[in-house]
Order: sequence, then structure tokens, then C-alpha cells
Amino acid sequence: MTYPKWPSEFELRRKNRHVLSERLHWPAGAVQACVDLEERHPGWRVWWLGENSSPGWELPAGFSASYETRGHATTELKAFAPTAEELEPLLVEVPEHDYSKRGCDFCRARY
Ligand SMILES: [Zn+2]
Repeated sequence: MTYPKWPSEFELRRKNRHVLSERLHWPAGAVQACVDLEERHPGWRVWWLGENSSPGWELPAGFSASYETRGHATTELKAFAPTAEELEPLLVEVPEHDYSKRGCDFCRARY
């Protein structure tokens, strides 16, 4: 007997994003733009955020991205831009952390 494969965390997050995008009325093409950016920039998670007008937290609508930097001394990289086109150049390629004695060029840590 075979069991269906449990969906990966990545697949679950994509499904979840799709459901949320309909509920939160994301603009047309926003989901696809997130998928495209994630495919072109592995490791980055891209999300669309509606305008936040809460006092002290004002932020225009736009695309938000984060990258979990495993190994590096910085815990997470974040980027935000009003459009997917403007976000793309901010999604830098993150090299593997360099544990050698000379230190890591990316995060400057020497451990
Ligand atoms: Zn590093």
C-alpha cells in the first residue's frame, strides 16, 4: 500500500498564499509575481502586503521578501518594494557561510 506524499513546507506555504491572496484581494498577478521571483531567487520568500495605515506602522502596499540566512551571523534578510520589478534587484544571492579562519565575506563573522 502506498500513502500520499505529505506536502512539503514549501508546497503548503504556496497553497496557503493562494488561499490568502483570494481572501485578502491581492491585485491581479501578485501571486504569480511572487512565484516567479521565488523561482528566480532560490531561498527568498516573497509576499504581497496591502497598505498598512495603522499609526506608527504606515507602509504602502507592495512586495515584501525575506531570506533566512542559515549559518551567517545575520539572522534574516528583508527587502521591500512597491512593485515586483523594483524588488527583484534587492533579492541578492546569498553565498554559503564561510567557516574558514579568514572569515565570511558575506556576514564578516569569523566563526
Ligand atoms: Zn557568513
